Amino acid sequence: MTFQAPKGTFDWLPPRSERVLAVREALVAPVRRAGYGYIETPTFEDTALFVRGVGESTDVVSKEMYTFTDKGGRSITLRPEGTAPVVRAVLQHGLHNGQLPVKLWYSGSQFRYERAQKGRYRHFSQVGAEALGAEDPALDAELILLAADGFAALGLTGVRLLLNTLGCKECRPAYRAALQEFLRALDLDEPTRARIEINPLRVLDDKRPEVQAQLAGAPLVVDHLCEACKAYHEEVRALLAAAGLAYTDDPRLVRGLDYYTRTTFEFVHDGLGSQSAVGGGGRYDGLSEMIGGPALPSVGWALGVDRTILAMEAEGLLEEDGAHQRVQVYGVPLGEEARRRMFQLVAELRRAGLAADMAFGGKGVKGAMKGADRSGARYALILGGRDIEAQAVQLKDLTTAEQTEVPLAEVVDILKGKFS
Ligand code: AMP
Repeated sequence: MTFQAPKGTFDWLPPRSERVLAVREALVAPVRRAGYGYIETPTFEDTALFVRGVGESTDVVSKEMYTFTDKGGRSITLRPEGTAPVVRAVLQHGLHNGQLPVKLWYSGSQFRYERAQKGRYRHFSQVGAEALGAEDPALDAELILLAADGFAALGLTGVRLLLNTLGCKECRPAYRAALQEFLRALDLDEPTRARIEINPLRVLDDKRPEVQAQLAGAPLVVDHLCEACKAYHEEVRALLAAAGLAYTDDPRLVRGLDYYTRTTFEFVHDGLGSQSAVGGGGRYDGLSEMIGGPALPSVGWALGVDRTILAMEAEGLLEEDGAHQRVQVYGVPLGEEARRRMFQLVAELRRAGLAADMAFGGKGVKGAMKGADRSGARYALILGGRDIEAQAVQLKDLTTAEQTEVPLAEVVDILKGKFS
């Protein structure tokens, strides 16, 4: 019997898997340069952290969590998102008692039991950045700019920024009431009617055409903002404009997690079909208090690594650039004694900083040379019994097929020179 990866998951294999590492690195390079420190939290947390932090009425919590009881009888959930765990860790370790804002970034797997389709997986990879403990429009603008810089560094030109504000605890209640009044008068199914009472903003996010058609005249949060929220949002917009970052005001952007307040944003790419969001985030001033901490106004984002790679594919940025170079040098030993000597030589080459591999599995010279070609190496080192006697090795340039004999004692230095 053979196994398949579970539905909604997939494997990254070489050489494409190298892209995942490179994309993660490129997306977080801007935040690292901006003084964000790396945080790694467990892959699973107490279920209650997400129920309270992300919100019971969200799809993520109500339908998509991988929750199980561990052998100690605790309810555990594989993390569906990274923000609640980061806030939990900050509170647990008292990081918020030091210099504010606390600036952190993370990278890791997220788990959501979603309807699997292209760009929407049950196991996916995000990088994220969070700035905790400061209410400052410049911080919102900084994070947005850093995400945009990450996408740009990858060569992406089709990423668009959608921007909105969701108000705060002063102005949101009146807006919520106005929205509820509007929604109650619509023709909606029972689960949606229930949602109106628990979290009416989420109804605006309903993607079904029959629902969207009825939402045309819905009250918008921008028309209900208090003076403070208005000024805050204007400052974020002005800072982005001054930085030369284009954005579209999207007064209907609400996003799927409950904790967002004020600034909300999404990065979308039009080459991805229905799963167009490559990243998103916003301000979550109430999250810390929702999970038992002090007031800790914060802002953050998460970028989808898998979807970013799909976006790069859509823009033709991942065309195969010729044969993949796995190593620089490939050893072809002929015979037992040569195999032992080559084993040492390859180890020396690696210690000298060169990427080197050799033929394994007792292959004949033909099979070993094929291995050399497939490895993408520039040079093959061919070593036979007679070479060992002469303390020499044949150095073959695989691009020109030119072969020269070099002293075994000098080959590491010679190769180092060729690659320097
Ligand atoms: P969210 O945590 O829902 O705000 O998502 C942030 C980003 O993660 C999105 O913009 C996507 O790029 C990515 N993402 C979210 N859910 C999935 C999923 N099921 N599969 C792949 N990527 C996802």
